[in-house]
Amino acid sequence: MATTAYVHVNLFNGQDDGFIPNSWLVVDNTTGRVTATGHGPTPNTDQVVDVADKFIMPGMINTHVHVDADANHTMDGPITETEVTLMALANLRQALQAGVTYVRNLGTGHDVDIKLRDAQQRYHFPAPGIVASGRLISSTGGNGDGPYHERNASYIVDSPDEMRRVVRQIIKNGADVVKVLVTGGVMSKGDDPRDVGFSAEELAVAVSEAHARRRKAVAHAQGTTGIQMALDAGFDSIEHGIYLNAEEARVMSERGVYLVPTLNAVESIVRDGRGHIPDYMVDKATTLSNAFFDNMRQAVALGVPMTTGTDAGTTFNDFGTGYWDELHLMVHKIGVSPQQTLYNATINGARLLGIDQDYGTLTVGKFADFIVLSASPLADIDAVREADKQVFQHGERKF
Ligand SMILES: [Zn+2]
Repeated sequence: MATTAYVHVNLFNGQDDGFIPNSWLVVDNTTGRVTATGHGPTPNTDQVVDVADKFIMPGMINTHVHVDADANHTMDGPITETEVTLMALANLRQALQAGVTYVRNLGTGHDVDIKLRDAQQRYHFPAPGIVASGRLISSTGGNGDGPYHERNASYIVDSPDEMRRVVRQIIKNGADVVKVLVTGGVMSKGDDPRDVGFSAEELAVAVSEAHARRRKAVAHAQGTTGIQMALDAGFDSIEHGIYLNAEEARVMSERGVYLVPTLNAVESIVRDGRGHIPDYMVDKATTLSNAFFDNMRQAVALGVPMTTGTDAGTTFNDFGTGYWDELHLMVHKIGVSPQQTLYNATINGARLLGIDQDYGTLTVGKFADFIVLSASPLADIDAVREADKQVFQHGERKF
């Protein structure tokens, strides 16, 4: 068993608060898993890497991305499966280089996310690990019955029976999670975040069919009514949650339902959108952004568990800087402590993805997915922006 020790590390292991100085981390080079950690005198290993007091933390997880979407090209999404695949490969590479070692993809044309997830074993392209939803579920006229539909990225469902069949089909296609567009959204023309796309019965069927097959059900839910319906139906996470009220926040906190606020998806439109995308989108985002950030601050205060997901691929919200922006907004806009922000970006993400047996902390038995930074992100969360940070997956350096 050949092993490598990383020594002189300031280590945040994803489980205990703070970066512990003069730590070490031993990785089995064959399995890519952590075999020991500690601090003080260095253990005997085949190889020693002195990281010279740099800061090591678990690889970060982006719990909400769209690998087929082009953050810079605005409204013209890729159409053919080849274009979708090429875009996805570029986005995934950018994510990994930014320090994101796992993503949860929530809606992509041609099930390219599922296919790339499966191809990773055979073709070693640079990419984070992938939890894939394949195509998402919308109702007629709903948030996914627009450009996504044209890109073969959604199923349109209008009854409990259709819902049952489509959830089963999605899981047959190979999806790890089932994504339902419960409400309208910001980026679509014909609907509004407060619109609800499905009946309670349809939503209940979606959740029970997913759970019957050990899959989590993911709700895109922005308006208050839709969020409540998603919670009533038993969805495992609420995405966006723009008009989340205090009562709903308390329910999520009590039940441990994760909120993925995708702060940068809204912020990037408000900040950079004018003149580049249709005015109705910028107006919609600007109108709701104040209420949104207020509601997110309230959710933080009420202890709603969160993960770090960006909706990467939406307008001006790319797979690299967009993730760093999300961490910055968590700390500086909605009042999450830097320490909690790092937990949200690592172990909480792993729990939501259902991969916490293998990922999310740098503790014995888990895969050695980690990043090496020159400065502490606890002192300044923007330390994660370091352009030439080192990124490791399964103990192998990728960047
Ligand atoms: Zn999304």
